[in-house]
Amino acid sequence: MSKAAEEQRCRGAEEIESSIAFAPLPPGTSAPPLYRSSVPLPICPSAPAVNVAGVPVANLTEDEALALVDKLITQGGSHYVAVVNAAKIVAANRDERLKQILLDADLVTADGMSVVWASRVLGQPLKQRVTGIDLFQRLVEHAARRGLSVYFLGAREESVRGTVARLTARNPDLRVAGYRNGYFTPSESDAVADAIKQSSADLLFVAMGSPAQENWIACNLARAGVRFALGVGGSFDHVSGLARRAPKWMQRLGLEWLHRLIREPTRLWRRYLVGNLAFMWLVAKQVVLGPRQP
Ligand code: UDP
Repeated sequence: MSKAAEEQRCRGAEEIESSIAFAPLPPGTSAPPLYRSSVPLPICPSAPAVNVAGVPVANLTEDEALALVDKLITQGGSHYVAVVNAAKIVAANRDERLKQILLDADLVTADGMSVVWASRVLGQPLKQRVTGIDLFQRLVEHAARRGLSVYFLGAREESVRGTVARLTARNPDLRVAGYRNGYFTPSESDAVADAIKQSSADLLFVAMGSPAQENWIACNLARAGVRFALGVGGSFDHVSGLARRAPKWMQRLGLEWLHRLIREPTRLWRRYLVGNLAFMWLVAKQVVLGPRQP
């Protein structure tokens, strides 16, 4: 996305709609702004994509996605990639701004197995699931090999610290430009982006959950001055070892969501149970009525 387009979108920041999923605000402070995308922005088709309920999901293997990201990093400018599961696609169908951010991404990959299943139902099977956490770890290895510096933003302090410690232990050549936890108010957001700029990081990984991380990346990419950013959800909690990822057999069967639901039922039941049903409904409509234009 061009710098001008990004600035144009973020100028809508004054249009307060509702609250963003940052840390709770102190009592007496008003709700933080959401950015309304009032200007339609062009889609950047970097790769062949399958339209899944209005979201263009790249039909690439993990290796191909990695190669494409490498190309984006090399070609200059600022780029971002987003990953989607069923819940995020449902959310994008309700949240125009999230939808636009996904449309503006250089690449959107299938984080959830349900997205791959949906592509099969739609008769355009995706080659592979390309999860945020796998892409993230492979990009960190890639950065270490190529001498690119990396900034980690998001999660709780012990989680982001643990992530940095584990990844530097695994990749001794990794250049860590900096890290910061993901608990800050929107008024601190500019300072966070400025600190990233100061660090001269090449790559930025943002783990603040969705849609906060997608919003943050879309609105701060140019200010942070990185070549590439990826939203990685709860990955820091997993990489640091503070949360356990589903066993391999559950990942293979596409049951990672069930593993997370069992561990955090109160927070996640709505996202997964209601979200999965809503997703099935959207896909069924697409089968019957044909694709909606992204
Ligand atoms: N988080 C954060 N700032 C916040 C709220 C959440 O950095 O204000 C972090 C949280 O600590 C966790 C991640 O965001 O590490 C959210 O993970 P979740 O499991 O919700 O991500 P997803 O399911 O979207 O991958």
